[in-house]
Parts: sequence; structure tokens; C-alpha cells
Amino acid sequence: MARASLGTAVLLSGFLNPIFAYLSPRLALRRDRVEWTSAERHEQRVRNLILVGGLLCVVISLIWSIVYLQMGDICRFSVTMLTVLAGGFLFVLVLQERMRVAAVFMIHILVVTVTLSSLAEMPPPGIPRSVHMNFLPVATAAFLIFYREGIYLRIVVPLVILLIFLVFQMHLVPPPATQALPLPQIGWLGVWANNITAIGSTCVVIAMMQTNISLRRALENDIRQAIARGEFHLHYQPQMDGTGRMIGAEALLRWRHPVRGNVPPGEFIALSEETGLIIPIGEWVLRSACAQLQAWANNPATQHLTIAVNVSASQFRQPDFVEHVRSILSLSGAPASRLKLELTESALADDVAIVVAKMRALKEIGISWSLDDFGTGYSSLSSLKRLPLDQLKIDQSFVRDLQTDPRNMPIVEAILSLSETLDLSVIAEGVETEAQLAALANAGCRYFQGYYFSRPIPIAELDRLLATQA
Ligand code: C2E
Ligand code: MG
Ligand code: MG
Repeated sequence: MARASLGTAVLLSGFLNPIFAYLSPRLALRRDRVEWTSAERHEQRVRNLILVGGLLCVVISLIWSIVYLQMGDICRFSVTMLTVLAGGFLFVLVLQERMRVAAVFMIHILVVTVTLSSLAEMPPPGIPRSVHMNFLPVATAAFLIFYREGIYLRIVVPLVILLIFLVFQMHLVPPPATQALPLPQIGWLGVWANNITAIGSTCVVIAMMQTNISLRRALENDIRQAIARGEFHLHYQPQMDGTGRMIGAEALLRWRHPVRGNVPPGEFIALSEETGLIIPIGEWVLRSACAQLQAWANNPATQHLTIAVNVSASQFRQPDFVEHVRSILSLSGAPASRLKLELTESALADDVAIVVAKMRALKEIGISWSLDDFGTGYSSLSSLKRLPLDQLKIDQSFVRDLQTDPRNMPIVEAILSLSETLDLSVIAEGVETEAQLAALANAGCRYFQGYYFSRPIPIAELDRLLATQA
């Protein structure tokens, strides 16, 4: 009989597979919406998984509530109906876009529901346990949903769920039935229903993981080819002093994909870091920026301008990073004193002595260092003191809400006084309005970058802008 049940489940999963193959691209995001960031994509999948989880809650609990009603067990019937309501509540949370609360609630309610249903399951001899099968999709969903969360949600929760599954799985002999089933067939019906929902929902979760993986792979391949096909180019965003004079520009990477269109850095930089592709990309950026510096150096009107280049943490971590920068710089012939490298606080998380040695080696040849997105990371003040930095870049989040959030001004003022103590210059990024500019200038900030002056633009446009300033 058990073999028959398994056979039916496998057969049904054979029917279900084409259905999920049809559903998976619809449950994942449409591929043509390339401007979605990976975080948004993840959010969308979490939304779909919560809908599946809510459905699972409703289905399992409805099946069991019918069984309990048949058996006249009103107490258990009421409990299962409560779980049906919990499933409905999940749908409400999704409609309200309260995804994280819904995800945490869903996983915990499913664990409780499946555990209670498994404990309550008392099949007559010859009929196997089956509700605990539903732990599999719940554990897989937890793993997929929480992969960016802390250790409790990311590791402990899926492992505990799998552990509970194993306990039920190994507990082969069910406790003796205390209440006879009104119909002998109902036990088998329950087994099949449980197996089908468990296999079906595991297929849905796996299908979502699969699309996640294949989308990442496709993007990774495209990034690899982008370098060879010359699809990358740089935009430059002017950096201004208090008098409105351009002192330099930040080089920002742009990717024009023939099919995907313009892919924003937020979409591909993180993946490039994870896959190591940021190394050749970073080299390309540095080479292009140095070539531009060299071109500016030949013109008296532009030779004072600096170019700031973003260096990712993994790029900076390369043992031969210093040699690489030196050789690119000397091959280009660009003046090192006009090159500024921007690091984020994550690049400084390593051994301070190594970080300092690398920074010093490049500072010796004239390169300056700027700390990007300052205030969003975890730099300790003592390590900040040891670093041979030249500039702090106030993160745009503090600038954006300068007028609306009264807590931002004291932070900006604290950064400015800290930089004075450490003898560093400060540039504010993300300046969009005149009011922000005035507030920053009043607080003592001398350098600015943001849409108020110019968006990041192609070099030809920047040259035109420079010509109007001359
Ligand atoms: P970032 O280095 O902090 O660059 C500033 C980002 O803020 C840029 O976004 C810029 O377009 C945007 N921005 C500038 N002014 C304003 C403003 O007034 N308002 C608003 N809302 N945004 C403003 P972008 O170009 O999308 O780059 C995002 C991030 O991608 C950069 O942040 C940087 O971390 C990374 N990135 C860009 N190019 C490169 C690169 O060549 N190498 C590396 N490793 N990372 C890069
Ligand atoms: Mg930057
Ligand atoms: Mg920044």
C-alpha cells in the first residue's frame, strides 16, 4: 500500500512538473524587466512564496478540519480552522506589502501547523504518516527567503525544520489510533493529499530557485561577454567646489546591453563582486579613467581636474592591487596626483596594517584616497585615524533627508568636525537641491557632487559643460 501511495505521488508529480514549468517563469519575474535589481527580484520571489505558503496553510488545514469534523472532534476542528485563518492573514499581509513580517510569520506558522498536524496524524496500521512531508517545502522556502538574513533565520530555522522532519520520518510506527476513522478510505485520501501538496509546493519552491540561479547565470555570462564586446562605458559626474567651479569628476560605470538595455550598476556590480568579474571590470574602468586623465593633462584648461574611480572591496583585496594600479597608471602616462581612488568601508574591514600598507604605497606616488558612502558602514574611529585618507564622502542618505529629518544635520556636522580633526577634506554626494547645498555650505562643507549640478554624463557632454564654464 505504501508503495502504491509513493507510486501515485511520483505519477502526480509527473503531471505537476509541466504545470510548474509553466508556472515558474510566471512566478518569477518577467525577464524583460531588466531594471529590477536583484533585491527587488528577491522581494518578488518572497511575495510569491508567501502566497504559496498561505495556500499551503489553507489546504493542509482545510483537509484536516474536514477529517476532524467527520470524526466529531470539534476542538481540533477549531484549531485547524484557526490555521486556515492564519493562511488568509498571510494573503492580507502580502496585500499590505508587509513582506518581512509575512515571511517570518509564514515560516513559523507553517512549522507549527505541520508539526501539530503530524502529531495529530494517527493513521490506522498499514497507512504511512504523511503530513510531515510538508516540512520539505517549508525548509526549502525558508532557505530561499532568508538567505540574506541573520544566522537564526538563514541557518537555524531551515535546519530545525529539517530536523523535525527527520524525527517524524524516523518515527515509523505511528501511535495507536484512539479514534476510528469514519471511512477507511479517508486515511489514504489524507496521505495522497498531503503527498501531493508537499511535492507540489516543493516543486514550486525549487522552480523559483531554478529561475533565480538561471537568471544569475545568464547575467554572469552577459557580464563576461560585455568586456570583450565593449559594452561598458564610463559616465562622469562633476565634483564642484563652493564657488561652483568644477574640480573633477567621478567615473561611474555604465553597461549598455544589446537586449537588456541600460543595466544600472546596482544590478551587476554586486554579482560581479561575487563572481570575481569585478577584477577585469575594475581594471577596464581604471584604464579608461587614466586615459581620460592623460587627455585632460595635455590641455591647460583641464589639467587641474581630478578623476575619482570606485574601487570595490574585492578588487582592493587582490594581493597585486598596488602593482596593477601602478602599471596602469604608468602605461597611460596620466598624472597620479589627479587620480583619486574611492573605497567603501567594507574594503577597510580587513587587517588594518595590510590596508594601510596598500594605501600608503599608492599615496607615495601621488594617488589620493576618498572614503565613499561615509557614515553607512562600521568604521571605527581608531582605524580611521590610522588610514592615510584624504577625503570623506558624506553618504547621500544624510544629504537627501537634510530638510525633512532633523537628525541628519548633527550627523553631517559631526562628520565635518571629525574631518577637521583628522585633517581630511569632505565632499557631500547626492546634492539635489539648492536648499541642501546651502545647508551643507553653512555647516562648513566645501565640496559637492549631485544632480543639482549634473547627473553622471558621457565625456562629450562633460567637455561641453567644461567649455561653458571656461
Ligand atoms: P557611488 O560610488 O556612491 O556613486 C554615487 C551614485 O549616486 C551613482 O549611482 C550616482 O549616479 C548617484 N548619484 C549621484 N548624484 C546623485 C543625486 O543627486 N541623487 C541621487 N539620487 N543619486 C545620485 P550609480 O552610477 O548608479 O552607481 C551606484 C554605485 O555603483 C556607486 O555608488 C558605486 O558604488 C558603484 N559603481 C559605479 N561605478 C563603479 C565602478 O566603476 N566600479 C565599482 N567598483 N563600483 C562602481
Ligand atoms: Mg563613489
Ligand atoms: Mg557613494
